[in-house]
Amino acid sequence: MAAIQNIVILTGAGISAESGIDTFRGAGGLWENHRVEDVATPEAFARDPDLVLRFYDMRRAAIQTREPNAAHAALARLDREWRGNLLIVTQNVDDLHERGGARRVLHMHGEHLNAWCTACDARSRWTGPLIDRPPCPVCGTPALRPDIVWFGEMPYRMEEIYDALRAADLFVSIGTSGAVYPAAGFVRNARDLGAATLELNLERSQGSGWFDESRLGPATELVPAWVGELLG
Ligand code: NAD
Repeated sequence: MAAIQNIVILTGAGISAESGIDTFRGAGGLWENHRVEDVATPEAFARDPDLVLRFYDMRRAAIQTREPNAAHAALARLDREWRGNLLIVTQNVDDLHERGGARRVLHMHGEHLNAWCTACDARSRWTGPLIDRPPCPVCGTPALRPDIVWFGEMPYRMEEIYDALRAADLFVSIGTSGAVYPAAGFVRNARDLGAATLELNLERSQGSGWFDESRLGPATELVPAWVGELLG
């Protein structure tokens, strides 16, 4: 462990599951009889914007009633105490890493608590509903959509992520199914360039075979234990 300087951590829905936020697969992939993928695409939004806005309004309201768990707290401790480079790349659109105290967090799939104006391109902090087509706080146009990267859209800040992966000595994946690309490919980017790789997940994932080590169990147990080991 002494040689490790640069760490990249990828988190997914599994790290927030014990805070009471459904994972995609855990919810059976269904919402009001729609496949989750069918409310999380630009085509779905064009076809039935009310349905999509209601779905995200519901989830935006729900996350604000949830609290960070011991896994978020452990990563916040690592962020505070790790002297080397650290980047927590999250696929999650909740704000539990930040509320848990982590600072070096990158939301590659956007954030529930942001609205994105499709008229002026501004992003604004947003905690309420969007279903009533409120005006954009910047330009006044009622053209706000959830600031969420939908299936088929380009994740945010990919260059920064690949730079961090190139420099990583250690890549750790926490609570992600390894089903959604490009995030599912990060383990291969990191290991091809020589990083050690570790997976912490409730069960074996689609990507488990790519990791040097997979530890199976709940994030609230595995993550604090791993952070304790690393910090000594
Ligand atoms: P996923 O639902 O596909 O997979 C979740 C993984 O977490 C599974 O492998 C599961 O076994 C594991 N898991 C479940 N409970 C766990 C626990 N207590 N401890 C450790 N692991 C646990 O989620 P994903 O891989 O993040 O990808 C799906 C997409 O869903 C992402 O793009 C993400 O943006 C979106 N999403 C985000 C949230 C959120 O922000 N909290 C919630 C649901 C979906």
